[in-house]
Amino acid sequence: MTNSPTLSRRNFCLCCLASLTTAYVSPRQAFAAARNIVDSLKESAGLAEITTYKLRNNVALLEGSGGNIAVYCGRDGKVLIDAGISASRPRLSQALADLGSQPVANLINTHWHFDHTDGNQWLHSEGANIIAHENTTRHLRSAQRVDDWDFNFPPSPQGAVPATSINMDTVVELAGTRMAIACFAPAHTDSDVSVHLEDANVLHVADVYWNGLYPFIDYSTGGSIDGTIAATEKIIATVDADTIIVPGHGHPVSNLGELKQYREMLVTIRANVASLKAKGLSADQVADARPTAAFDDKWGKAIISPAFFTRLVYKGV
Ligand SMILES: [Zn+2]
Repeated sequence: MTNSPTLSRRNFCLCCLASLTTAYVSPRQAFAAARNIVDSLKESAGLAEITTYKLRNNVALLEGSGGNIAVYCGRDGKVLIDAGISASRPRLSQALADLGSQPVANLINTHWHFDHTDGNQWLHSEGANIIAHENTTRHLRSAQRVDDWDFNFPPSPQGAVPATSINMDTVVELAGTRMAIACFAPAHTDSDVSVHLEDANVLHVADVYWNGLYPFIDYSTGGSIDGTIAATEKIIATVDADTIIVPGHGHPVSNLGELKQYREMLVTIRANVASLKAKGLSADQVADARPTAAFDDKWGKAIISPAFFTRLVYKGV
């Protein structure tokens, strides 16, 4: 069902970044290092190989260009769920061609972040109609600042802006298969949607779920730890043991059991951070107390360091 990913340059880069953010540095230094996440991800995508995972019923996953990308190959056209980063266009185009000669007819963005929408323009230029939550459309149309990335994004070019916006759960038939698009209440951002490919029982859940990594939470555009936990619980309530769950980041092929472990991690760390904050500790003091320690070996080795994640939780409790 899956290829065996080799050690790509992307992995190498993320490992370097991980060591930067988990070596012996103060929480404040670790936080500053992680703030370069936008440039790091773009640079990684420019170098990374694309790894293809073939699932069932003509669904594949592509890893290596920002967020995980799902592809449905219909008889006459492909549907992409997320667009990745434009720097990887040549390798992404090749990976798509290897799946079949159909053009990309439709693209669904799971939320507005650059590592899921940066490829919108080139995919649109090749004929893709773009569908997204209305808040994704709104955020792409105007300049955005994400404080925790210390990054200002300019408005996107017109071709990158979704032509079709939704603001409620919507079932669409694209390339001959049914896809249920479900809108989350604000979670990772205020623009998150999941996409369920019903025939294949594959569910892309956006950046609500990071598989094996502490998640980023974008408070600048409506995200929160409590919203992230609530969204995770919504997914758990709607999937079954056979559902292939696709996280926004981390190993792209996941399942209900792994998602439950992720929820448990979020809930426990939230409680630990809330209890320390309630005692009057500052964000630095809480990070120094290492409220994530029991989970760091499994979740804290990649791009969002334990100290960075602690601060993201601290903001929301
Ligand atoms: Zn995101």
